[in-house]
Amino acid sequence: MEPDLSPNPRQPRRTWIPYFVLAVTLLITGIATFYVARTARTKDQLRFENAAEFTKDEIKSRLNNYVSLLRGGSGLFAATDQVTREDFRAYVQQLELRDRYSGIQGIGFSVKTTSDRKDALVAELRQQGIQITIRPESPRSEYHSIIYLEPLDRRNEAAIGFDMFTEKVRRAAMERARDTGTAAASGKVTLIQEIDSYKQAGFLIYFPVYRNGSNPKTVAQKQAALEGFVYSPFRVDDLLRDVISEQYSYVDFQVYDGTEIISQNLLYRSNPDSFNHHSSLTTTTTINIAGRTWSLVFTTRPEFVNTSEAGLVPYIFFGGVAISMVLFGLTRSQARAKTAAEKAVAQMHRSQAALRTSESRFRCLIEADIIGIITADLDGKIIEANDAFLKMVGYQRDELQEIRWDTLTPPEYHHLDQHASQEIRTFGACHPFEKEYIRKDGSRISVLLGGATVEGTQNICIAFVLDLTERKHLENTLRHQTEELAEANRLKDDFLAVVSHELRTPLNAILGWVQLLRSRRMDEAKTNKALEVIERNAKVQTQLIEDLLDTSRLIRGQLYLQMRLVDMTVVIADAIDSVQPAAAAKKIQIDSAASEIGIVWGDRDRLQQIVWNLLSNAIKFTPDGGQVEVKLNCVDQSIEIQVSDTGIGISPEFLPYIFDRFRQAESATTRSSSGLGLGLAIVRHLVELHGGTIRATSAGIGRGATFIVKLPLWNCSQKKVVTEDLLAPRQIRENKRIIH
Ligand code: ADP
Repeated sequence: MEPDLSPNPRQPRRTWIPYFVLAVTLLITGIATFYVARTARTKDQLRFENAAEFTKDEIKSRLNNYVSLLRGGSGLFAATDQVTREDFRAYVQQLELRDRYSGIQGIGFSVKTTSDRKDALVAELRQQGIQITIRPESPRSEYHSIIYLEPLDRRNEAAIGFDMFTEKVRRAAMERARDTGTAAASGKVTLIQEIDSYKQAGFLIYFPVYRNGSNPKTVAQKQAALEGFVYSPFRVDDLLRDVISEQYSYVDFQVYDGTEIISQNLLYRSNPDSFNHHSSLTTTTTINIAGRTWSLVFTTRPEFVNTSEAGLVPYIFFGGVAISMVLFGLTRSQARAKTAAEKAVAQMHRSQAALRTSESRFRCLIEADIIGIITADLDGKIIEANDAFLKMVGYQRDELQEIRWDTLTPPEYHHLDQHASQEIRTFGACHPFEKEYIRKDGSRISVLLGGATVEGTQNICIAFVLDLTERKHLENTLRHQTEELAEANRLKDDFLAVVSHELRTPLNAILGWVQLLRSRRMDEAKTNKALEVIERNAKVQTQLIEDLLDTSRLIRGQLYLQMRLVDMTVVIADAIDSVQPAAAAKKIQIDSAASEIGIVWGDRDRLQQIVWNLLSNAIKFTPDGGQVEVKLNCVDQSIEIQVSDTGIGISPEFLPYIFDRFRQAESATTRSSSGLGLGLAIVRHLVELHGGTIRATSAGIGRGATFIVKLPLWNCSQKKVVTEDLLAPRQIRENKRIIH
């Protein structure tokens, strides 16, 4: 099935997946950060408020306790007429103030007196052993000197005798306590007891003591019934030092007297550094301390932030962003990797499809067996071959294992193979080159060979092998034809030279003798000689022209035979007759022998021409005094005429061409004998027209030559009948020489 090569439609969608992941993770990070921040803030707020509330409650309950103590003290005075210092001391001692109530300096009692009773009071107290001086001494209507203050240590002793009513902050509280009948706290003061260089802020709480047994209702009654105040001085630092429990150590607070948050009103601060650092949360609240309003300002310490979950927010945020980026990177690289992988797969499919196409094309090429194709390694082994190759080298498929391309190659081509192998190793392919293979039967086949390496291998190559036999054959034929054409051309030129020479020679003789005749100065004998020469030369010329015409007819296929029964013995005798003068001139003896009468079916004149030609050549090419022999035999169903001489003979090189037109053993320029070189060609043609054959033999130069003509015998067994009945009477009559 063809793979889907269209571009993947999912591909563009995937590119935004990483961004989607990034957006989602960033959103989650944002939400988580926001949620954690908000929760942390809420928790912090709660934590902070808890701490503030707890601290506030602690302060309240602590002071309520102190107020109760004062109320107890006032109860002591209400119960008896006279409370001595000893009584008072006993009461305070049992409270174990120092151990159980920190911050309280003591519990004291100030007594109200008038200017007229002032001295009596002092005297009375001195009687009790209390050395007291009321101070300040300035005269006034009412005196409120401190007479008891327990425990009576060095600090408290400094306060004995002091009239707190003379100081306006204390007085305001005292008046409020007096007029309301309840505990009243003073504003911020510096206690009389503060004798150190570092003076803590202080305040006092007063509880009114009314005259024994009275229960004043109105302010006037209360003022009238007032006997004094049970009071406590407080050093705020000592009082509030340990108010904040360990649990809330991350909270600081300041206490201000009144509602105005200003430094003059500052009573206490839990951490002296609290103004120096920024606090993330602040809250201000007020509490009522014995009728006086305190402002509490709570702030957070730096540690608060450390213990807050808000500290996680940046981690969550940056962690989330980091995770988002990592996820983004991962998904993007994954998306890219996937896209790349898909591209690679598509590419692979395309390559595979292309490979399949090329493979199928290649397979078609191999199976078409138009050319030989082999897969082979460069060392000589043939791995695979198609039928065309096997056919070329003449092996069967099951013999493939036995053959190697290097052993199929003749040794003289090994260097070409090596060169091609080198080219393939270096460039992956080689130029096609011509070589030969030795076929199984030992014959050779010319081939054109080219090869290239199989992709992915170094040593395996595919080679095509083209059979060049046909081409080589055509090349050879063409070469022969060209050679023949050149030869024919040369022969034609030779022939023309020969013809002009041969025609001119008799003409020259004729013309020479004709001129002598014209001079009329010759005797009769000479005149006869002249006429004889003229006639002979004219005959020669006639013969030459006759030969040319015959050749022309032969070439055009227009030579016709007039067939009849002919006795070859007669023909031979006639031919010998006609060449006798020429033989005699050269003192050549002609012998003839005929075993039987040979009757053939043929053209008499042409048959005579055959014999005459062979005889003429024999005489021509035999030196003076030589011998020529003519034999006639009947062999099987044919008649054999043999003309042999003792002449110059024929070279073995010339022998094969002796019957060709225009062929002469000597070239036109060097030859010594006359003739056109047409005679034997005409002879062979005429013999063949009669259904016969002719061949020439010679033992070599100077050893004579023999021409053997074979003609089909008309009927040897009927030779008598033929001789008597069928031969023309003219021929018998004219037969001057009977062949024996
Ligand atoms: P021509 O005799 O006119 O040259 P032919 O065709 O008769 O032409 O002979 C061709 C050639 O064959 C001669 O030129 C000669 O070289 C050679 N030839 C023919 N007959 C003989 C022979 N009897 N002995 C030696 N050479 C011969």
